[in-house]
Amino acid sequence: MRWLRLPLLALILWATWTAGELVFRGYDPYYVLFSFGGHEVQWWSWLVLGAVLALMLVLPMAWCRWLCPLGATLWPLALPGALRVTRSAPACSSCRACDRACPQGLAVSTVPSVRSGDCTACLECVAACRDRRALALTARGVSRPIHWAVVPALITIAGVAAVAASPLLAVPSVETGAPGPAPEGAAVVSLRVAGVRCARMAQAATGLLESEPGVLRVRAFAARGELEVTYDPAVTDPGGIRAAVEGPVLDEHTGEFRYGVFRVTEVDGTRVPPP
Ligand code: SF4
Ligand code: SF4
Repeated sequence: MRWLRLPLLALILWATWTAGELVFRGYDPYYVLFSFGGHEVQWWSWLVLGAVLALMLVLPMAWCRWLCPLGATLWPLALPGALRVTRSAPACSSCRACDRACPQGLAVSTVPSVRSGDCTACLECVAACRDRRALALTARGVSRPIHWAVVPALITIAGVAAVAASPLLAVPSVETGAPGPAPEGAAVVSLRVAGVRCARMAQAATGLLESEPGVLRVRAFAARGELEVTYDPAVTDPGGIRAAVEGPVLDEHTGEFRYGVFRVTEVDGTRVPPP
């Protein structure tokens, strides 16, 4: 049943490719649960979440074991992984306590080391094993067992590094206008904008410039709160573009205009004093 994840992953990739957006987000149980009413969440999203939770009451970890498309994506990465749970056959009594403890249902007691992509390194199996010599977390090239604290430490370091590096590797969240090189005579201005924090807000900020005369192209980077605007200097200038970005935003839910949603804090690297 673990293979069920592959057709689900293929369906999501196909739907995302054809729709041009993350169509799965509204159904993702984690997003529904932890976005606290995110804008993609619909009433049927809660139905999906309820069904998944009900399923997991009957079959523990059912989502993770059989359905999670992210798990399928990460499978290949487990093969070259440096850390893994390793069993010593001479010390093992084949009591199978490790098998019973594994929340992923992996058969730990029958393999020399756990190479499955489903292993989350939770180390429940190691904790359940009475013989410290029989089962341990090991690292490639290291002869001694690895302390369990290495796992959360590595995850924390990787998470902090990923967040810190994300502005450097940012790709445009939203892009409007003709692709390719800028038209001859066009100028480019880079605006750092308070309020552009996510793809949705980047979309809203970009929308403010769509009807602005002289604006030829907008690339919005939510990861670093930045708009890169290509414009015709004969028609507009950075001041006009800034005024458009800081203009009122129509709230689609209430039909009212909201003021002060976006504020330009830097223009081409130069700080702009608050109004
Ligand atoms: S570390 Fe956790 S998921 Fe991996 S085999 Fe052991 S109990 Fe199962
Ligand atoms: S719990 Fe330890 S001793 Fe028992 S089967 Fe697993 S590895 Fe072997």
